[in-house]
Amino acid sequence: MDKICIEDLKIFAHHGVFEHENINGQNFYVNAVLYVDTESAGISDELERSVDYGSVCKLIENVMTENTYKLIEAAAQSVASAILRTYELVDSVDIEIRKPEAPIDMELGSVSVKIHRSWHTAVIALGSNMGDSRAYIEEAVGKLINNEYVKDVKQSELIVTKPYGYTDQEDFLNGAVICRTIYSPHGLLRLMQSIENEAGRVREIHWGPRTLDLDLILYDNEIINDPDLVVPHPDMHNRTFVLEPAAELAPGYRHPILGLTLAQLLEKLKNNG
Ligand code: AMP
Repeated sequence: MDKICIEDLKIFAHHGVFEHENINGQNFYVNAVLYVDTESAGISDELERSVDYGSVCKLIENVMTENTYKLIEAAAQSVASAILRTYELVDSVDIEIRKPEAPIDMELGSVSVKIHRSWHTAVIALGSNMGDSRAYIEEAVGKLINNEYVKDVKQSELIVTKPYGYTDQEDFLNGAVICRTIYSPHGLLRLMQSIENEAGRVREIHWGPRTLDLDLILYDNEIINDPDLVVPHPDMHNRTFVLEPAAELAPGYRHPILGLTLAQLLEKLKNNG
């Protein structure tokens, strides 16, 4: 993809782990690479079809000067998120923040952090069968909507389903959301687990009753097989209560291993079931 590059934007700000850095401030240099399709701006010669780098520089300055972070990692994360949220045309960004006056007792050219952030598509399955299930699910969706690293959250209808696995328990309320997110798959899993914990979730019986269960079903077309995260969710194609709400949101989303769309997987499960 095309790139718009901003180099060595000098900003005086107050980030650092030492108190004197927060009080006195120092110079930071920001490099930003914006990945933007510039073809239509190139053909039309109209600024509205591209990203105004002057306003991007102002936005970076605002984020850098209106906040005081201990870490340049945190400053870079906020700059990346602000750019991605503000400019629809920006698909992904590289942000580098350099700190040439970093306070260490040695001669140092500079120290920097470089990050890459991008919008990704995620599908999350939601379930609850304890307490006020509808309220738990609505609260979880509200937390996703209000999260600064998540946008375009769409929620399916909620459906009442019979328990799966351990069957001696209340019926479940199930649904799904599809969203765009800057989180990595593991970052999103951590967010989902903190939302589950805030709902008072206790893990007692495997497949047993729960106030709130959030499963990451799909993340772009990624295939992940880590000890703590498997994506696509390994059992999603066997669960009507997952496929039905997910297919309502994104019938054409293709399972990256099975090669079938969500609508096709649901159809297949209904015919075999
Ligand atoms: P559960 O009790 O069914 O919600 O399972 C939670 C455990 O499954 C956590 O320890 C997660 O690390 C792990 N896990 C693996 N893959 C996924 C996934 N795609 N979505 C959510 N949890 C997952």
